[in-house]
This record gives sequence, structure tokens and C-alpha cells, in this order.
Amino acid sequence: MSRYEKLAAEYGTPLYVYDLDEVAAAREQLFDQLPEPFELFYALKANPHPDLLKALRSGDGRRCRAEISSTGELANALAAGFAGSDCMYTGPGKTFGELREAMSLGVRMFSTDSVTDVQHVGQVATELGITAECLLRVNLATASAGSGIRMTGTPSQFGFDAERLPEELGELRRVDGVTIAGMHLFPLSNTADEDALISEFQNTIAGAAALSELLDLPLRYLDIGGGFSVPYGVPGGRASYPKLRQELEIALDVHFPNWRAGSPQLACESGRYLIGASGTLLAGVSNVKVSRGKKFVILDAGINTFGGMSGLGRLMPVQVGTDDEEPTETVSLVGPLCTPGDTFGRAVKVPGLAPGDVIRIPNVGAYGPTASLLMFLGRPSPTEVVVRGDEIVSVSRLDHSRSYDYQAVAR
Ligand SMILES: *Cc1c(COP(=O)(O)O)cnc(C)c1O
Repeated sequence: MSRYEKLAAEYGTPLYVYDLDEVAAAREQLFDQLPEPFELFYALKANPHPDLLKALRSGDGRRCRAEISSTGELANALAAGFAGSDCMYTGPGKTFGELREAMSLGVRMFSTDSVTDVQHVGQVATELGITAECLLRVNLATASAGSGIRMTGTPSQFGFDAERLPEELGELRRVDGVTIAGMHLFPLSNTADEDALISEFQNTIAGAAALSELLDLPLRYLDIGGGFSVPYGVPGGRASYPKLRQELEIALDVHFPNWRAGSPQLACESGRYLIGASGTLLAGVSNVKVSRGKKFVILDAGINTFGGMSGLGRLMPVQVGTDDEEPTETVSLVGPLCTPGDTFGRAVKVPGLAPGDVIRIPNVGAYGPTASLLMFLGRPSPTEVVVRGDEIVSVSRLDHSRSYDYQAVAR
């Protein structure tokens, strides 16, 4: 029996398996590809599992910070040992309730998306007698390859329109309780093409420098975003960016000559790259049927378990492996839910499968259970087992239940 077969036999399916060795390898790889000094935020949105968080928090001099966007994510970060001061709180709709909770628990850095967002942060900070640091999330929305900086953005709930910042800055500077500490840009996600990623970062760095000068706003902190790529639900490895470190150094030397001394302190961020490859989903085959000549393989995992977006009409191009067999046929791979939307693929190559078999979907460490339609159709959440090589670190499952305790849910 292979390791995966053993785990499936022991804990049942559907089963997420995360390997902490792989998390550590990804963290090392990403830090290796970045200049020093550079800070790296892990976006909890990708997967808030506490053991993954702990693995990202540890590491000699190469510890991640936490990028959070809700009080639930904050609670997870704190439980995993992050301090409030390790966190950056992002999102375009921060409420007074969550700002109060975040600041009370020690969060000081906020990525902000509008004048009123900064005012809300300032109001709560003032109430609490503290000073919060606001990064201005900037929506440059420029194509990276062009010459010069086009500040003609597409409309977005995220970030300040760069071209309006000159007129908004006066108002921002008048907000009590905050310092405008720097900028945050996040133009891009999941880019395996190194040249495209580098050119986007160059654009971001040049854009931030130009804006800082135009606004006469020195930056203490500059988060240049992310875009680091790993396959999702299909085989393959993390993208590699062998030229990135040097290209970033060159761009930073041009635009921020004191960056090596930490002025500004540079940061970037990632969710998927740090954990995507650590996860494998094991799903059981519940049934196989033929309808009008087409074979359907029905799994015990569907869009309630993985890739919930497919329920909204976007098919996940999953590929399936088993331990020893090559694909021999093409089938519709579907989940158990009572909706035709519960489909992983309509032409997925699989080995001959029968009820009781276990299949594997690789690279599911990011955007797994918590990004799926966990509650839909009321099945239990998948079991999640964390391993370090052959050692079992934890076995757990998210609960869903209704609470009638108003205090517990009030925000
Ligand atoms: C979602 C998100 C991330 C993580 O994106 P990945 O593609 O998983 O790396 C990082 N930063 C911000 C602001 C995000 O919204």
C-alpha cells in the first residue's frame, strides 16, 4: 500500500493531506528568489489551517508575516502564534467592529482602499488612544510593458485610483490616529511567466516611486504584491523565478536607493505559492454509471470539498492520479451533490475506476476546503490530515453548525 492508500484507509475519504516539509520547501524557495531584506506576507485567504500557519511562521530569519482580511483570519493567525504586530489587515469593507477588535488585539498595519477607509481606521485608533499605520493600496492599473506610467485605472473596489491621490492626500494627512506609512500594490495573481512577473514588479516599483515623489510622501513601507504561481488541482511544480532576485535589486537600486538599509522596508505577499503544492486531495469513487454512452465517475468529494467556484459555472481542469495506473479512459468526473454544477470535468482522463477506488487530486493546498461550498448540501467537511514526511502531525475537520448565541455572531 502506498502512503496515500494507507492514509485513505486510516482516515477515510474525502481527505486532504498536507505535507509540512513541502510548506517549508516552498517558503525557502520563495525567500531564495527575493532580495534581502524583504518581508513576506502569507495571505491566510489561501488556507488558514493552523499547522500550515505555524510552519510559515517558523524558519530562521525567514518567517512569514500574516495578511488577514477578517477577524476570523486574525483569530487563526493569533492561535498559530503570530502577534497582532505581525499582521497586515486588508480588504475594502473593514467595519468599525472588526477594526476595534483588530486594534485591540495588537494589529497596527492596515492596507486601505479609500479616504473613508482611512478615516474609519483613524476614528477607531483615536478611540483606543493608539496610532495605526495605513498603507495606501494603489490601483495603478497600468500595463507593465509600456513606457512611462499610465495612471488610467480600471474601476475597482480595491485601492486608491492613483490619479486621484494628489487631490485626496490633503484629506488623508488630516486624519487623526494614523500615519500614512507607505503603499501596497497587488496588480497580479498566479503568473508562471517570469518575464511577465518581473515586468509587473518593475512597473509597480517605478509607479510607487513616481507617486511617492509626486505626492511628496516618503515611504516607510512598500508592499509590491505577489503573483507567484503553482498549479491548482493538476500535476506540476511551483513556478521558478531564477532571475527575479537580481531584477528586483536592479529596479530597487534605481528607484529606492536606500532600500538595502530598509528605507523603505520592502514586502511582497503570497498565498498559493507557499502552500499549494503541500496539499493532495484523496477522494473515493462512490459509483460509476453510464448514461447514453457517457461514463460518469461519481466521487465522494465535489464542489463542497474542492474548487467551489466550479459550482458557479467555472469548471476546474482537475487531473486525477492513482498510485499505479495510467489513464485509460475519458469520463465525466462529478461530485455527489444534487446539482449538475457539481462537476470537476466533462472529459477527464482516468484509469479504469470502480466503486471503492481512491483517486488523488494534486496541488490543492491552497484554496481547498475554505474556498469550497462547504455547507452546500450539508455533508460533513473533509478530514484534513497534516503530515511531516511519515509523521502524522494532526487530524481535524471543520465543523458547521448553527449558533443561536446572538453575542457570538454580532458584529
Ligand atoms: C488573494 C490575495 C493574495 C494571495 O494571492 P495568491 O494568488 O494566492 O498568492 C495576496 N494579496 C492579496 C491582497 C490578495 O487579495
